Amino acid sequence: MVSVNWDTKEEREKPGVVFILDEEEEENERPGIIFLQGSGVIRDYYESVGSCIEDVLRKTDASLEMKDLRYSEHRPYEISPEEMVEEAMIDFEGQVDGRKLNNAVQSNFNGADAKSFGVFVTDEDMTIEDEYNFILGATTPGCVSSISTYRFKNSDSLDPFMKRESFKSVVYHELGHLFGATDEFRRDDLVDRLGKHCGDMDIMRQGVSVSEWVDYTEDRLESGTVYCDSCKKSMKDYLSTL
Ligand SMILES: [Zn+2]
Ligand SMILES: [Zn+2]
Repeated sequence: MVSVNWDTKEEREKPGVVFILDEEEEENERPGIIFLQGSGVIRDYYESVGSCIEDVLRKTDASLEMKDLRYSEHRPYEISPEEMVEEAMIDFEGQVDGRKLNNAVQSNFNGADAKSFGVFVTDEDMTIEDEYNFILGATTPGCVSSISTYRFKNSDSLDPFMKRESFKSVVYHELGHLFGATDEFRRDDLVDRLGKHCGDMDIMRQGVSVSEWVDYTEDRLESGTVYCDSCKKSMKDYLSTL
């Protein structure tokens, strides 16, 4: 068994990327969250991401507008999701680099929203080149999260329900990073485990193996708690500044 790593050292990007408004888009000034997928993502997984985003927005009273790129007439990106994956592919490895994928999503954005977050779902196995064997998700806080279905979908030991629920735990975790749950400028109770993480028994703990994520998922389903109060407060504080 390879040593399994989850997540990445998040790049501490400033959350304030400002996009210039196009004249015709001026009406649409609400901050938005755009979610998009590469090819091959099973519908069930993709829709799980949508429901996690909705749930997080509800939990944090955020008024972000969610945009599913499948149904959008606007094309806020210069290139297609498939081309973004291609840009982030590591030669000969068959894996996509999560950090590069986030950069591809971010740098090809040409939309006009006051502030837009990107959430990308890929069917490809993900890693950070030269750092990990694989990762399950990667977030550039305040900008983009990318999440891979690969490790859960292809797990031999999990039933379909736990595959999807464990994947959802990862989505919640990355959305937490995206919205500042583990922002060290907002809290002093974080633990250092492959980047800043929560010390409570919630989904913002850092897991380093698929089985650890399954454990966290069982905790989540049993307790009904996704984020602890500190994580939720950090996210609310961050989202209220948009
Ligand atoms: Zn993390
Ligand atoms: Zn927490």
